[in-house]
Amino acid sequence: MKIEPFSGVGEQAKYIPALAKVNPDRFGMCLCSVDGNSYAIKDADVRFSIQSISKVFALAMCLSVKGEALWSRVGKEPSGTAFNSLVQLEAEHGMPRNPFMNAGALVLADIILTSFADPENDFLSFVRALCGSGDLEYDIEVARSERETGYLNAAIANLLKYHGTIECDVERVLHFYFLICSLEMSCRELAAAFLAFANHNIKFEYSGITLTSSQVKRMNALMQTCGFYDEAGEFSYLVGLPGKSGVGGGIAAIYPLRYSVAVWSPRLNGKGNSVMGMKALEFLTTETEESIF
Ligand code: GLN
Repeated sequence: MKIEPFSGVGEQAKYIPALAKVNPDRFGMCLCSVDGNSYAIKDADVRFSIQSISKVFALAMCLSVKGEALWSRVGKEPSGTAFNSLVQLEAEHGMPRNPFMNAGALVLADIILTSFADPENDFLSFVRALCGSGDLEYDIEVARSERETGYLNAAIANLLKYHGTIECDVERVLHFYFLICSLEMSCRELAAAFLAFANHNIKFEYSGITLTSSQVKRMNALMQTCGFYDEAGEFSYLVGLPGKSGVGGGIAAIYPLRYSVAVWSPRLNGKGNSVMGMKALEFLTTETEESIF
């Protein structure tokens, strides 16, 4: 299997003006094994906008404070629709299908805003602790650029507010959501952060956020079924690992009790997932002949 022929396919997320400026031909990958080894190639240490991968960290924070009660605010079924789809949200009276589509993540943002004393810093401290990099930062320029053109997310947030699914002001929720999407991390940092999800047998406790082993396993189940929007089936079929993608071109995935892996390549397919990222992970599990299946 060769992945090079796909290196020029797709383009970066141009609907967020600041992301359109990223060099589309960057590529990085890092794998961290549970026994403490890590393997990195190319641009594995270059930070990029994690975008929707932030939804995994937001879900961990919400599960830690709300427990099972969280599921009265957001569902846990695959959507089969685009990450920014409004269709089901209207038909289902403002109850998002799952926490990894934008509607669900806007609810997570609302829960964090109403449950934490200093949401912006608490989120940052949590992810810094997870990956062990104390200098992670939001990219304010990316967040502002997305806000300026984020009409669809604003429509989703307004629909949520209309149905009473979010408590805070629409503007406050959007601001926080765009901010956490703008967090910059490298593949090495993402793989280090996701190792905590692969290691569900080790106590999950980072910067005051604690999850039980069962909660971590359930988060992994959600990544498997909902992590790639309307391509969750394709990703399961070709790669066979739970994971989460972002329109910055990053994908983080885990092999429970074995390894975590992160890959970055900004060119996206029509579903908003990294073309080379998916190919590289398909290559990994095909060549090693090992996936969770
Ligand atoms: N900030 C992006 C948006 O809301 C995140 C989407 C994604 O990464 N899939 O459109």
